[in-house]
Amino acid sequence: MRRLPPGFAALDPPEGGWPPTRGRFRPERLEAPVETLPGVGPTLAKRLAKLGLERVGDLLSHRPRRYEEPAPQRRIAELSLAPPGGDEEALIEGEILKTSSRHGRGRLRILTAQVADASGQISATWFNQPWLQEKLVPGTRVRLRGTTNRYGFQVRSFDLNGGGATADYAPVYPASEEISAAKVRELVTNALAHVRDYPDPLPVSVKLERGLPSKSDALFALHAPRSLAEAEEGRRRLAFDELLVLQLALARQNAEREQAVAAALPEPGELIDRYRAALPFTLTEHQESAIAELDADLARTTPMQRLLQGDVGSGKTVVALYALLRAVEAGRQGALMAPTETLAEQHFLTIEGICAQLGVSCALVTGSARSPDAALADVVVGTHALIQQGFELRDLAVAVVDEQHRFGVEQRSALAEGRSPHVLHMTATPIPRTLALTVYGDLAVSEIAKPPASRKPIVTAWVTDERSSEAYTRLRAHLAEGRQAYVVCPLIEESATSPARAAEQEADQLRGGELKGFRVGCMHGRLKPAARRELMASFKARELDVLVATTVIEVGVDVPNATIMIVQEADRFGLAQLHQLRGRVGRGAEQSYCLLISRAKEELTESATERLTALVASTDGFELAERDLEIRGGGQLLGARQSGLSDLRFARITKDLGLLEAARDAARSLPVETMTAEVDALLGGAEHLGAS
Ligand code: ADP
Ligand code: MG
Repeated sequence: MRRLPPGFAALDPPEGGWPPTRGRFRPERLEAPVETLPGVGPTLAKRLAKLGLERVGDLLSHRPRRYEEPAPQRRIAELSLAPPGGDEEALIEGEILKTSSRHGRGRLRILTAQVADASGQISATWFNQPWLQEKLVPGTRVRLRGTTNRYGFQVRSFDLNGGGATADYAPVYPASEEISAAKVRELVTNALAHVRDYPDPLPVSVKLERGLPSKSDALFALHAPRSLAEAEEGRRRLAFDELLVLQLALARQNAEREQAVAAALPEPGELIDRYRAALPFTLTEHQESAIAELDADLARTTPMQRLLQGDVGSGKTVVALYALLRAVEAGRQGALMAPTETLAEQHFLTIEGICAQLGVSCALVTGSARSPDAALADVVVGTHALIQQGFELRDLAVAVVDEQHRFGVEQRSALAEGRSPHVLHMTATPIPRTLALTVYGDLAVSEIAKPPASRKPIVTAWVTDERSSEAYTRLRAHLAEGRQAYVVCPLIEESATSPARAAEQEADQLRGGELKGFRVGCMHGRLKPAARRELMASFKARELDVLVATTVIEVGVDVPNATIMIVQEADRFGLAQLHQLRGRVGRGAEQSYCLLISRAKEELTESATERLTALVASTDGFELAERDLEIRGGGQLLGARQSGLSDLRFARITKDLGLLEAARDAARSLPVETMTAEVDALLGGAEHLGAS
């Protein structure tokens, strides 16, 4: 076993075990709600929950985005001697003399404290952390890390009265607007007291063979490293666990799948010819090769398990419908399952039209709408209502699962249960092909690598609030030319009002202001399905100029005449979400635009700035996926709601290929029942339906 760095030994239990007061190994401590930690009340707990931190164990597996490099310690007098403009980081230690706070531009709150050491004093500032004032009472000893500028010392991280380990490789956690990174750090430090309660599910033989540290050592190294190498060693161990569980889960699924038999479909015939003729364009080379690949699958009795991957707007739906019609042609049924009602409705709107032309019956099945005789239709489009009890399809041969990552693995297999249809999974989450093969096991991958050639890349611009009227001027210019537009409403606090209300208010305001004289519709999740369909249909028919919407338009909406989009408070959306939203424009041959509006730059978090910069710089979903990974510093791919892959917090699937291979090898050599609980949790617990 590789030796851990010196000092780690101190973490090992003393001879005879930990003293009884500390308690024995108590994994249930990890299940306890965060409120059981000191200083966590209901409000903080609620905010933590939004970050997915509900239990003590969640804090321990909250991965730092990065670590601070140690900064040189300086005397305050030395600081003021620093050359102007040099924003070198430094560490100072001193005592609070007094504090004051004021409002800056916009929502900016500035807290200033006079800090003194033996050499002199300086004013230190914190942004947007007004609550700190109570804690910084005169006389408090502080260690501050930050940079000097002409206003004084701008604090990035700090310790009060000697708590924590801010200065040296301090972990920087993903935080939210409501919880500072420093607060998260404090809580994780408290949670570390329970690190010994973490069960270590990894077989000892694997640890020995691969030289991996114990789980609790790895967690400790992750949160309180004394060097970056130590932190990395901890991360690798945790990443290995995740990848191993994923590989074990895939092995189990593959074994189950091998038993299944599907009907081989005959060659494409007359219906497919008519479908091709009915399309107003010719298929691209990429679409054709995806079709050829799935044709080959459909000719076999092994059920197809193919992943169709392509960026937003690349033309996956056309290929999906092809697959469904292949089933219909053979006298059987095709079903398309989408993760949300809105998306199912969008697909239905698109598909129904062509189906009608071809004389193919088409039905919609969602929780709130079901066409009569839906179960008998040739093509059935729906949500998970399709696979729920009480609904039986007549004779399913091909199933298409859209945005498959939004379904739990279990739901995906439920669709196939007992009927073994051919399954095509569609996703707009780009991951490299080689990697897809490894992480999806035996799922074959077809990729639509390029959108239709007629497409011009969307031009993206980022402006701050004070220039939002210029953005609307541009939007009106598009409308004047007969184009259509989207305005995406800001995300709002749950407590304030509902997103639906906010969208409606926004639409009203725009009708009376920036968009006076134009026809403005408002789309949100609260609309009744029928109203929502009607609204979409009239936007498609150009009876509306602008659609003001919540993120319900994130996926599936397809109106090529819409050429400009404004996203308000864009800094509050995730990179993946913004990329998906942006994909609603640029779907025709016209040049399209996406205008991102954010708060003043100095008010933005580091990662918000990085996200918006990345979005302006690139329209390539693959590149953005990689960038998203870097910014989040975690293993999550585009979209927070994925299952399986998104459960990778520590593994960076683009960089940990070696580790992934090691995990795959280990999985092959281990008995099937290894880490059963973890595998069950991954397969069963991964039910993340997208919010609508
Ligand atoms: P995706 O589902 O990958 O986001 P869609 O299938 O919805 O993309 O296609 C986006 C738009 O491009 C649609 O308006 C569609 O009709 C159009 N489209 C698809 N294939 C082609 C093609 N080969 N040539 C021109 N336009 C196409
Ligand atoms: Mg689509």
